[in-house]
Amino acid sequence: MKLELSRVIQGGARLGVLQGIGRTGQHSLKVPGCLLYTHFGTVPHLTQDTLQTVNNLPSVTQVTLSNIAEHQEVLEEFKEGFKAFAGLHNTVLYCSLHDPATRSPTGYATNKTVSVWGSGGRIELTASKFMALLKTVKPDWYQSMADGETWQTNTSRKRIRKSVDRTLAYLDECLLVHQKSQDLDGVELFGVVEGGDVMEERVRSARETAKRPVAGFCLDGLQTGSVDQALRTQLITSMTTELPEDKPRLLQGVGRPDEVLACVEAGVDLFEGFFPFQVTERGCALCFNYDVSPDPECAVLELNEEKHSAGDNMQPKGDLNCEDQTQMTSFEMNLKDKRYQDDFKSLVEGCGCYCCKNHQRAYLHHLLVTNELLAGVLLMIHNMTHYQNFFGAVREALATDKMDLLKKRVHGETRNT
Ligand SMILES: [Zn+2]
Repeated sequence: MKLELSRVIQGGARLGVLQGIGRTGQHSLKVPGCLLYTHFGTVPHLTQDTLQTVNNLPSVTQVTLSNIAEHQEVLEEFKEGFKAFAGLHNTVLYCSLHDPATRSPTGYATNKTVSVWGSGGRIELTASKFMALLKTVKPDWYQSMADGETWQTNTSRKRIRKSVDRTLAYLDECLLVHQKSQDLDGVELFGVVEGGDVMEERVRSARETAKRPVAGFCLDGLQTGSVDQALRTQLITSMTTELPEDKPRLLQGVGRPDEVLACVEAGVDLFEGFFPFQVTERGCALCFNYDVSPDPECAVLELNEEKHSAGDNMQPKGDLNCEDQTQMTSFEMNLKDKRYQDDFKSLVEGCGCYCCKNHQRAYLHHLLVTNELLAGVLLMIHNMTHYQNFFGAVREALATDKMDLLKKRVHGETRNT
């Protein structure tokens, strides 16, 4: 795996390509970018066939050990790894510890174990059990075991320090097993940087993790709802200055478009792609503007049209400190709202997805109020397309010096552009 950066802007935002990824080295991933979010290898609501109708799919698929841990014996018996088990082809498999769309309870990590929650309840993992599990999963990338129980704002400094110490100790244990294992030959390990909201601990965690032979870094404990964006930006900047330039940085638990932009500017390369799923689950469609095309007048017109149609239904910008990640944001429209029952426009004018090309808002409204399963399918297609195109716009904005314009578009400011 090699990270080729074509631009680094003021020591922060990075534009580039991760080349030669996966065990065969035949895949690449543009950064900034996001991973493909799945539940046990499946994008929620979509079959593999339907998924393939979405353009520009990420080349890296994320699965979480919380989904997989209770199936270890079956995977051991199957022997060929999770990709073959779940019918995944032509993708790079990344295995993370927790599901970014759900919040794990705190108070369960110990010096020797972390806990994940599957459908049957809590499963406790030691480093050796964690590594045994990964040998059966056979991913291309995985995150090291980590104590990420410091995301709550009232976490004490002592507890944060302990989480950094533990996470480094887990990493050393994982590395020891990793380096001796033939099963994990060619697999990339991402070290996890912790440190809560304490700057010195963030710096220490980043510095120490960077000394180890890891392929990249997961920045943990900064998910939406844990810190506000100003502090998150400061903490990320303090970490990225300690990290080597040639290794990717993956931020966990952040998916809102405004937060993504701020984190990209602080030096984050990769995000988990769970946000479109959360939007779909609340019956909403992403409709924010990310147009940075050379004709600003045209983009403003489109935005005005969108504001007019979504109108009062758009809620104020979500509170960054909000604990509830399921709350609707200003980047989406609530299609369950009665105002859409006779709205015959496509979800987003000009969107090329299957849903927008074939259906109108009124039909989606009907599917949602009658609880038809097709609602989730169509919304997921649209939301994933919109989100992937947004990341395309982020890369274009970095390549053409239009980040300020993109931020104005995403934040919904139409004046002074
Ligand atoms: Zn669409």
